[in-house]
Amino acid sequence: MPDIASRIKNLRQNIQSAADQAGRSSDDITLVGVSKQQPENRIDDALGEGLRVFGENRVQEAEQRWQSRRNDFPDLHLHLVGPLQSNKTDRAVALFDVIETVGRKKIARYLAREMTKQDRRLPCLIQVNIGREGQKSGVMPDKLDDLYQYSMDQGLNITGLMCIPPLGDDPAPHFKQLAKMADELGLDQLSMGMSNDYRQAIKCGATIIRVGSGLFGPRPT
Ligand SMILES: *Cc1c(COP(=O)(O)O)cnc(C)c1O
Repeated sequence: MPDIASRIKNLRQNIQSAADQAGRSSDDITLVGVSKQQPENRIDDALGEGLRVFGENRVQEAEQRWQSRRNDFPDLHLHLVGPLQSNKTDRAVALFDVIETVGRKKIARYLAREMTKQDRRLPCLIQVNIGREGQKSGVMPDKLDDLYQYSMDQGLNITGLMCIPPLGDDPAPHFKQLAKMADELGLDQLSMGMSNDYRQAIKCGATIIRVGSGLFGPRPT
């Protein structure tokens, strides 16, 4: 099994070649290592390789993993990539540097209030339920403009959009759709693409890719 150093090296090469093919600069693409559920030694390996941007999907797990490491790695950059509950917005604002999953008005309102209270104005992305799936979080595409306007009115710093295309679909049309929506709102950041589809996402304009198993190895079950 390849180790983390060679996986990261591979990823960086693939990011570079996808960016080249798209006529883009790889400097405009942030690799987020999604470390949820991964063993601690793999996290340490990734830190040893110089990775500083990580994604987590649960507030409590992220606190346990990252609060202590903050002191050793002041340049850490943590993205929340999982759905946020309103009773955890205070802890999320205290820990994370980017919130990628604003998906409803209540969360936008709570986040804005906490950011004012803690004097931490974090960049936020709106998660779009791009495949209009029943159980999936994120705002439905036809409600995006409304949520965006509401979030701005609350004072949130909305910098872009995020999506997870439906499993089994060709992701490219969904990525293109998200890029179009961001463009229409004048937003620069596009968080899209995971282990299996980050190359396509880069070709469709992704500025943030979220890679878990492709970087750390399969998550233990
Ligand atoms: C788990 C997760 C990822 C990473 O998935 P992989 O397929 O392991 O790369 C990316 N984004 C979100 C929102 C996730 O929950």
